[in-house]
Amino acid sequence: MSKAPLQIEAQVYYNYIRGEWVKSSSGKTYHTVNPANKNQILGYFQESTREDAKLGIQAAHDSFQFWRDTPAPIRGEVLFKAWILMKERAEELARTMTLEEGKPLADAKGEVKRSLNVLEFMAGEGRRLVGQTIPSELKNNFAYTIKKPLGVVAIITPWNFPLAIATWKISPALVSGNTVAFKPASSTPLSAINLVKLLVDAGLPKGVLNMVTGPGGTVGMELVENPLVRAISVTGHTETGAMIYEKASRMLKKVQCEMGGKNAVVVLEDADLDLAVEGIVQGAFGSTGQRCTSTSRVIVEEKIKDIFVRRLLERTKRLKIADGFTEGVDVSPLASDSQFNKVMSYIEVGKQEGATLLYGGKKPSGAEYENGYYVEPSIFTDVRPEMRIAQEEVFGPVLPIMVAKDSDEAINIANSVRYGLSASIYTNDITKAFKFTDMIEVGMIHINSPTLGGEAQLPFGGIKASGVGIREQGSKAIEFYTDEIVVYVDYTGRRREAKFI
Ligand code: NDP
Repeated sequence: MSKAPLQIEAQVYYNYIRGEWVKSSSGKTYHTVNPANKNQILGYFQESTREDAKLGIQAAHDSFQFWRDTPAPIRGEVLFKAWILMKERAEELARTMTLEEGKPLADAKGEVKRSLNVLEFMAGEGRRLVGQTIPSELKNNFAYTIKKPLGVVAIITPWNFPLAIATWKISPALVSGNTVAFKPASSTPLSAINLVKLLVDAGLPKGVLNMVTGPGGTVGMELVENPLVRAISVTGHTETGAMIYEKASRMLKKVQCEMGGKNAVVVLEDADLDLAVEGIVQGAFGSTGQRCTSTSRVIVEEKIKDIFVRRLLERTKRLKIADGFTEGVDVSPLASDSQFNKVMSYIEVGKQEGATLLYGGKKPSGAEYENGYYVEPSIFTDVRPEMRIAQEEVFGPVLPIMVAKDSDEAINIANSVRYGLSASIYTNDITKAFKFTDMIEVGMIHINSPTLGGEAQLPFGGIKASGVGIREQGSKAIEFYTDEIVVYVDYTGRRREAKFI
C-alpha cells in the first residue's frame, strides 16, 4: 500500500440542500489546510449564513412526512447500502481524514472501522424499532407503545472524529425516521461531505439529509434556535454544549450534548506496569491527545511513583513524531493553528503553576516539522490536583502526573474535576477494581485498558460537565431520536364504569 498522501485538488465544495449541491447566499467561501503542512490548501467551503441554514431546515421539514412514512426496515436498508459503500471507500475516507485532521492513517482507518460498525448496527435497528406491550389493569383492554420520529433533527459535530461522530449521530436519526439538518465542524468539512455523498449514493431521498457548512455562531445558532428543529445533538466543548443546552431547552427542544473530558488513569502498586505504561502512552499521546476519551491525567500510588515515571519516560522517548502518513508514526500534528496555540499555552501554564516539565513541551525541531502543528509529547510531574493543567481540558499530548497515598485518595483526586467522561484503573486487586467502578464519577470505566474508545453496540457518553441527555450509540441512541407513544385499545365495547385520572 502506498504511503503517499492522497492528492486532493483544492476545489470548491458546496452545501447539500434539498438534494442539490448549492452555493451559500453569502457568496463567500473559506479554506482549510493540511495540519502537517499549513501551506497546502485542501479546499474552499461555503461560508454559509443563517439564511442557508434556514433553507436546509425547511428542506428537512418538507421531507419529514415522506421519510417518516417510509417503513423503518427500508430506511435501514439505505444505511446498509451506505455500509457497503463505506467499505469500498474506506481507504479514501481514511486518507482524507489524515489529510484534513492530521491523525495517523492507522487511527483514521480505525475511525472508518468504527463508522462501519455503527452503520451496520443502525441498519439493523430498522428491523428492531420496537415498542412494548404492557398489561392493562382492565379486562379486554390492550396497551402498547410505539416509537415515533421527532421531526427535524439538528446535528452539530466537532473536528476530532469528523466521520465517526457524524455517522453515529446521523444514522440513528435517519433510521428512526427523522430528517436532518447537519452542520459539521468548520475545520473538517471534507470528511463530512464524503459522508453525505456516501449516503446520497446509497439512495437517501432528496431533502432527508441537508448539510450546511459555516460558522457555529451563525449556521449552528440557526439550527439551535429555529422553531422547526425538534431536537439537537451536539458534540463539542462544554461551553458550547452548555450554551446550546440552555437556549434549546428554553424552547423545549430535546437536547443531547457530548462534551469535554479530563480522563484519569489510576495506577495502583500491584498493577502490571508494562500494561499500564503502554495503555497510558497510547491513551495520552495517540491521536495527539485529541480524542475526547484521551488520557489527560495519571494518578499513581506513591510506592511505585519513581519506577512508573522512569518507565513512562523511557517509553515516551521512543515515540515517533511525524506526519500521519509516515509508516510507524506515533504522534502526528495537532489539528489546527488554534489547537497548537492552546496546547502551547497550557504547557506555559503548567510551568508557571510550578509543575515540573519532565519531558517535551516544545515544537520539535527539524525541517519536516516546520510547517505543521507539531508539539512534542509532554509529561509534567509534581502536579497538584488543583492546578489548571490537572483540572482543565488541554486536548493535546500533555500528561500531568499526580501521586496518591492509596487507592481511595487516588479516586478522590480522579473525581475532583468538573468532567466525567472516561476513566481507567490498572490493578490486579479485584476488590479495588470493583470499588473503583462504584466510586468513580464517569460515564465509561475501563479496567486494565486505556481510557479510549467504545463499541458501536454499547452506549457512549459522559456525566457531570461531559454529557447531558440520553446516551449515544447502541440501541440507547434510538431513545433520543424517538418519542415513545402509548396506545390504549379497549375492546370491551362498553362504557367504562370506573373514573380514571
Ligand atoms: P467546539 O465546541 O468548538 O465545536 C463543536 C461544534 O459546535 C462545531 O461544529 C462548531 O462549529 C459548533 N459550534 C460552535 N459554536 C457554536 C454555537 N454558538 N452554536 C452552535 N454551534 C456551535 O468543539 P471542537 O470542534 O473544538 O471539538 C472539541 C471538543 O469536543 C472537546 O472539548 C472534546 O472533548 C469534545 N468531544 C467530546 C466527545 C464526547 O463524546 N464527549 C467526543 C469528541 C469530542 P465551528 O466548527 O464552525 O466552530
